[in-house]
Amino acid sequence: MIRKTGSLLCALVLFTCSPNLYSAQKSDTAREKVRTYFNRLVADSGAHGAELRMFLNLMPKGGDLHQHFTGTTYAETYLDFIKKENSWISKKDFSVITPRDTAKLPDTLSVDKLRSDNKMLSDFSMVWSDKDFSNHYHDQNAPDVQFFGTFANFSTILKYDGALYTEGLKILKNRAKLENVQYIEQMFISPGYKRKDARFDDLCRKSIADKNIPELHRTFQDFVSVVRADALYQKAVPGYLKQVKTCADAVNDESFTLRFQSYVSRNDSPAEVFSALYTAFCEADTSDLVVGVNIVNAENSPVAMSDYSLHMQMFRYMKELFPGVKTAMHAGELTIGMVRPEDLTFHINEAVMVALADRIGHGVDIGYEVNAPELLAYMREKKIPVEINLTSNEFILGVKDGQHPFRLYLDQGVPVVLTSDDEGVSRNNLTDDYLHMVQRYGITYDSLREIAGNSIRYSFLKESEKSQQLVNLDKRFAEFEARMARMIANASREGGKKRTTNR
Ligand SMILES: [Zn+2]
Repeated sequence: MIRKTGSLLCALVLFTCSPNLYSAQKSDTAREKVRTYFNRLVADSGAHGAELRMFLNLMPKGGDLHQHFTGTTYAETYLDFIKKENSWISKKDFSVITPRDTAKLPDTLSVDKLRSDNKMLSDFSMVWSDKDFSNHYHDQNAPDVQFFGTFANFSTILKYDGALYTEGLKILKNRAKLENVQYIEQMFISPGYKRKDARFDDLCRKSIADKNIPELHRTFQDFVSVVRADALYQKAVPGYLKQVKTCADAVNDESFTLRFQSYVSRNDSPAEVFSALYTAFCEADTSDLVVGVNIVNAENSPVAMSDYSLHMQMFRYMKELFPGVKTAMHAGELTIGMVRPEDLTFHINEAVMVALADRIGHGVDIGYEVNAPELLAYMREKKIPVEINLTSNEFILGVKDGQHPFRLYLDQGVPVVLTSDDEGVSRNNLTDDYLHMVQRYGITYDSLREIAGNSIRYSFLKESEKSQQLVNLDKRFAEFEARMARMIANASREGGKKRTTNR
């Protein structure tokens, strides 16, 4: 009894003397209200889509760790860029014609002319994005061809004037802030160097076919010397880092942080992939702004499929040369029918076990991998997260709802982050993917907070930067929960009044 009174007194003293404790208790109460409210919405998520969207739009989402600059920029922004650069659109295929290519001028349209014609503007949008792909009858590409085909259009105008990159990033930053994203780790531009070498290609493919990994790594080593001696390579790294710094300086402030990943295309020749990869690792090793390296492009294309194991060995070699450089790797962005069944059995495994990926992008075909249970356990133990891209997987692969392995990863304890991939091509935003996640997989509020926090915890920021970002995220959550709690309380009061009046 005495002890009870003592502890009650202590609690009272602590409560009145410690403002921090008081505000922590206040925010706990707000969180409890928000938790109850959110879990109630999710229980009948079909009827509460608009309310959930509002909630998720306002909710802090931490970071977006899987975003491609060119695919995230909307077609409308590209049109602004084309107009600004006094360039045109080809009447034939809607590609960009810059003043450097005056031979094509007779077959072009101005941006103003295009915008004044609804039919042409609609056709343009269907070539430059997934817009209206499936809501009316028209000749269609296969979804993967449509999606990846859009990228060929973007680079012409961006390369015409490098300043457009900064302009584009400012737009993406504003969009991120509007949906409460505080950090972006972006696949921005490729490393700026690659070289062809048919002999290297032959040697690599022979060593892989013979499973002679020591010989393969000797071939790599010799080619590093060739790359390093190339004057173009020597210019590429400082040029890349200068551009990255200019862009980062233009957008980074106390409310928003941007970091970059350099990347290679998996559809290039082995020599091009290797030389670009070496350059990308050098860039990431040199600059704090370039926090990782990735491999991109259609995983089901013939070159990507036949050279897959070779690419994983290249990453392994680079990881040994540059142990401090982190890698996020597109792997398992495949499904049944797209490739042969046996081709679905090993990509994520090799990305994790051979290439030593720090994060996996997509990971959709995990259910087809021969050693899936052991691989999932390994990813859980080693804390190798998977970047989930629901909208892009639904469009490119046709994989959605219960066919998507989101639940499998979550239930097996593999860290999950939700990412946007290519908002401009998909014509969505990160909030939209959060809504899909909540409506399809019945996520609780605590899981939602955990997933948002993962986007900082598993980012490639330095530990001190992560701590700072996590403090910032906690603060944003406290503000968000207080705001939602006020809304919930007001709605209950109004609801109460109405019930009284009706009676
Ligand atoms: Zn991607």
